[in-house]
Amino acid sequence: MSSLKKVALWILFFLAIVVAIIACIFQVRYGNKDSMPCVFCDIVNKTRDADMLYMDEDFIAFKDIKPATSNHFLIIPKRHIANTNSLTIADKDMIVKMKLIMLELLKKHNQTIENEISLGFHVPPFNSIKHLHLHGISPKSEMKLIGRWIFKEDSYWYKSVDTIIASLIENS
Ligand SMILES: [Zn+2]
Ligand SMILES: [Zn+2]
Repeated sequence: MSSLKKVALWILFFLAIVVAIIACIFQVRYGNKDSMPCVFCDIVNKTRDADMLYMDEDFIAFKDIKPATSNHFLIIPKRHIANTNSLTIADKDMIVKMKLIMLELLKKHNQTIENEISLGFHVPPFNSIKHLHLHGISPKSEMKLIGRWIFKEDSYWYKSVDTIIASLIENS
């Protein structure tokens, strides 16, 4: 192969990678519009089943389908909120409420040891489902290596509920 052809191939290869990266960024930024189907809204609307734990006017809680430990629950607002980036100080009370309901649920399941409880959110683009959900996990020490990474508190991808509350206050 002539060196000119080699250079052309490399340029093509490079361009393909650039296009793929741009496509990924767009997917992350614009891929999940509110009009698109949302698994958690389906659970709220009862068109999809979940292992329900709690329900009130504003929230529902259910078991995570891929539990990282023996007690792994999710609580979501019934109203579709995309992620933690959509939150403002006006949502602070809602987040505090979610935290309290989750602690109550864990207590019902005999999970009361503070250092064993993880309460947190995945932050975009690491939120697999684009509907705000608070994870409640206990006992933490039971988690496997992969779980310890996915739910590594105050990493780039997973923020504790208290960190989120503090940042809402700070940015208000
Ligand atoms: Zn939703
Ligand atoms: Zn998550």
